[in-house]
Amino acid sequence: MNIHEYQAKQLLREYGAPVSAGRVVFKADEAKTAAGELGGPLWVVKAQIHAGGRGKGRFKEASAGEKGGVRLAKSVEEAADEAQRMLGRTLVTHQTGPAGRPVNRIYIEEGSGIERELYLALLVDRASSRIAFVCSTEGGMDIEEVAARTPEKILTFTVDPASGISGFHGRRVAFSLGLEGKQVKQCVSLVTTLYRLFTERDCEMLEINPLIVTDTGDLKCLDCKMGFDANALYRQPDILSLRDESEEDPKELQASKFDLNYIALDGEIGCMVNGAGLAMATMDIIKLYGSEPANFLDVGGGATTEKVTEAFKIITSDPNVKGILVNIFGGIMRCDVIAEGVIAAVKEVGLQVPLVVRLEGTNVELGKKILNESGLKVIAADDLGDAAEKIVAAVRENR
Ligand code: GDP
Ligand code: MN
Repeated sequence: MNIHEYQAKQLLREYGAPVSAGRVVFKADEAKTAAGELGGPLWVVKAQIHAGGRGKGRFKEASAGEKGGVRLAKSVEEAADEAQRMLGRTLVTHQTGPAGRPVNRIYIEEGSGIERELYLALLVDRASSRIAFVCSTEGGMDIEEVAARTPEKILTFTVDPASGISGFHGRRVAFSLGLEGKQVKQCVSLVTTLYRLFTERDCEMLEINPLIVTDTGDLKCLDCKMGFDANALYRQPDILSLRDESEEDPKELQASKFDLNYIALDGEIGCMVNGAGLAMATMDIIKLYGSEPANFLDVGGGATTEKVTEAFKIITSDPNVKGILVNIFGGIMRCDVIAEGVIAAVKEVGLQVPLVVRLEGTNVELGKKILNESGLKVIAADDLGDAAEKIVAAVRENR
């Protein structure tokens, strides 16, 4: 789960990391008061969406030469004007996709004078099972771009969880960033603080881009992205309360309410499968027969009819879905429950696209009988390969 920049900065503030004073604004008429509570002479007005690249982004229906989602202002009035101009519009950045994201929150911040822009991030390195630090002197731009063009400008190291974070980690970051004097001490403190926040709050990633050296020679976190391990949210209620559901894929949100493992993808074949391994094999074999999966959906082991119905509804609500493949190997899951769920869902939402069902395992005969007697136009398949071939062919015929 991701949170907004202003929320991440509040967490940084609570842990003692250096950030600017700021105010979040939800409505246009709050903008002037918010800006007035902050000192000048510079204000920064920032669109809050769960995507980076806002500064270089572009609003839909932007006037010629209009700035992106991060704007500097020289007075309270100007700051309030910029906030009002951005609220309610759609911001497109290289991370949002062409549809962009609606801007419903604006963060107004005291502006900083910038001497240098640096990069600092923490993430979970699965290969070493440790937390990794990534830092670079090339702040303010995409780290992916730096990694592709000038990989030598990126330093990465991991922290041994047994000995934990130490001063030498912070000094290593400081020297790689070319920091001097009081900045070294500030960096050591920041690195320790970030590590503590990361581990105590079950972060998945924490990125500060840019980390700046201000015109007074101090370190400051100018932007922050934080993501949290969804499986740990049960023990992080105050993090969970920061969730902004409007930033999430509505289908994924609906699925999470029914405890379904659903991830939206770009293809055309909707899949309903039980078990993550079978789901991945199903996606692979769809590709093998020349098409692409529209989603990853694992209904899990002990799915009820209600859960299967919901899963099917989520799949059919995706306009990209041109065909559906139900592939169930009933071990714990019973095939008759799947069959009943499919029928219940089709009765509710109808079936506009071809449906191939492959059932195997517990109560398979009963499941097939239920489907056969339902009057539904179901294409039956014998095995995984047969199922994938049939759904890809049916979708082609329908074009
Ligand atoms: P992003 O584009 O979504 O990554 O948003 P950032 O918060 O990183 O802002 C983009 C850029 O705007 C930064 O790299 C800075 O160059 C600039 N910027 C942001 N805040 C300030 C500020 O307080 N003062 C100045 N002078 N520039 C800022
Ligand atoms: Mn940034």
